[in-house]
Amino acid sequence: MKSVKLYDKRFQKIVKLGEGTYGKVYKVKLPDTEKVQYYALKKYASILFGEGMDITALREITILKEISHENIVKIHELFYGMKSLYIAYEYIDCELTKIIQPLNNDELPESLIKGLMLQMLKGLAEIHRYSVLHRDIKPQNLLVNKDGVLKIADFGFARFIASPGREMTAGVISNWYRPPEIFFGAKYYSYGVDIWSTGCIFAEMIKRKPLFQGATEIDILTKIFSLLGIPNESDWPDNNQLDGFKLFSQGDVITIKKYFAGFSEEGIDLLEKMLALNPNKRISASEAIKHPFFTVEPLPCTNEEIAQVVSKLIQ
Ligand code: AMP
Repeated sequence: MKSVKLYDKRFQKIVKLGEGTYGKVYKVKLPDTEKVQYYALKKYASILFGEGMDITALREITILKEISHENIVKIHELFYGMKSLYIAYEYIDCELTKIIQPLNNDELPESLIKGLMLQMLKGLAEIHRYSVLHRDIKPQNLLVNKDGVLKIADFGFARFIASPGREMTAGVISNWYRPPEIFFGAKYYSYGVDIWSTGCIFAEMIKRKPLFQGATEIDILTKIFSLLGIPNESDWPDNNQLDGFKLFSQGDVITIKKYFAGFSEEGIDLLEKMLALNPNKRISASEAIKHPFFTVEPLPCTNEEIAQVVSKLIQ
């Protein structure tokens, strides 16, 4: 097996997991240890000493060094190579996408959706408790390990929330999971952006396909408005981006209740609260955890039951 050429050559490369603008991620292991331990090793390629550090790396490190929670990925180790920075994360076996993607036409059991949603919301509540916005919640960044524990990963876009009145970057969050206020260029946004993305994933687990899938921003916004309607001044009185909404004309509205007919009443209620068009009306992660959806039958499945699903997918 080929070793990764690293500053310290302890890790052995198993396979490339992914690649982004920052560099590459490999599955690696530490040889010569009694129990084989796997890691996801992220290599930030473009770090030149004296020329500053990659901003995404800096974000991941500062934030993940602060937050320690069962539902948030852990950094195992951090080290420099000649021109690179390496972050070794705990290795997590399965992307949520694998669980969602339909292998057949069966629906995901409601108890499984509840178990996964509850873990997602617990991780998110913890991130928000630290005044951090993740800003890239999507199924590819939610990983589930062999023990059935879901972990939020990839903090490359995360940031501490700006103090009131300070602008934040517009245009964050992958398109299909991006809330309307971000599409319309909001510079003052808050925790609701992550709640919207999580609501989209909730819906995706119910239907087993992305809720607002579209090739262009217009396609996606058209889908959002045909499900939820176009907000008016009474829905969203302090909305200073209403001009953007006015570009769209209101057609027939499907409504969440009709589109998800057959799903539990409590589930639909929670989904409506997560997908409120007005971000100020969106439920918070800590409130969502206490929603009746999680206490009525069928109850959220256990981590052991999630582990059984994962074990079938990673064989
Ligand atoms: P990222 O650039 O962080 O989105 O990572 C690229 C891909 O690497 C992801 O889509 C995951 O499939 C994989 N990945 C990232 N972190 C981990 C991890 N801690 N454990 C396992 N796979 C990971």
